[in-house]
Amino acid sequence: MIELNNIRKEYHTDGTGVTALNDINLTINDGEFVAVIGPSGSGKSTLMNILGCLDTPTSGHYLLDDKEVGYLSPNQQAEIRNKKLGFVFQSFNLLPRLNALENVELPLIYRGMRPSERRRLSMEALERVGLIDRAYHKPSQMSGGQQQRVAIARALVADPNIIMADEPTGNLDSHSGRQIMDMLTELNGDGKTVILVTHDMNLAHTARRIVRIKDGVIENDEKVVAV
Ligand code: ADP
Ligand code: ADP
Repeated sequence: MIELNNIRKEYHTDGTGVTALNDINLTINDGEFVAVIGPSGSGKSTLMNILGCLDTPTSGHYLLDDKEVGYLSPNQQAEIRNKKLGFVFQSFNLLPRLNALENVELPLIYRGMRPSERRRLSMEALERVGLIDRAYHKPSQMSGGQQQRVAIARALVADPNIIMADEPTGNLDSHSGRQIMDMLTELNGDGKTVILVTHDMNLAHTARRIVRIKDGVIENDEKVVAV
């Protein structure tokens, strides 16, 4: 479970301060599918970076499974990310020199898993996203949609409880985008918590709950009514 209590984030550059998040209170239970929406500059990325243990808040508390994780050292943050979180980014973030299989293996390498075991789990993950036949292709030899499916395989290979997707369809055509959203829905169906950041209201409606932020404040938080 994710619990943010009175989270505040200020950036200070050249003597001027920006309050990116202002007193955020948010609870996300295991197995939820939440979309975070809001206009550019509203604080979505900042919120995602804090939730993903990529950045620390200025003040407030972040409890992840009842443990305070807001103010960990970079090494401790990396350990939490590796253990509990999977990430999917707008720009895929695959390593260009590695093939699909090697990219998917990365989170398992950080865990110190044996190569044969790593390979087996990574092939399974590639199979889940329908890309077994692309295992030995480099990112540049794949379409955007395929690259994002590799990124999803990488996000799920270590079996994290939480998947964080930041504008995962932003660089894709609508067909590939739909495939990616279907995969996120499927992962959520398997019990994973999915947190989707988007500025696209249509995509947000794939989630079960929509949290709208504006100027660093939660403006609205509601369940999506099934149609
Ligand atoms: P969004 O993802 O919704 O576009 P951000 O979280 O990126 O919003 O930004 C929220 C506010 O914080 C904006 O005013 C932005 O300019 C500012 N901001 C974000 N990151 C930084 C940073 N590293 N340094 C200074 N200001 C930042
Ligand atoms: P997004 O739409 O993903 O929020 P942005 O262009 O707002 O993209 O920001 C991309 C990244 O650039 C942010 O995650 C943040 O780290 C950094 N950033 C955004 N605004 C500022 C700023 N005013 N000063 C410094 N860094 C910023």
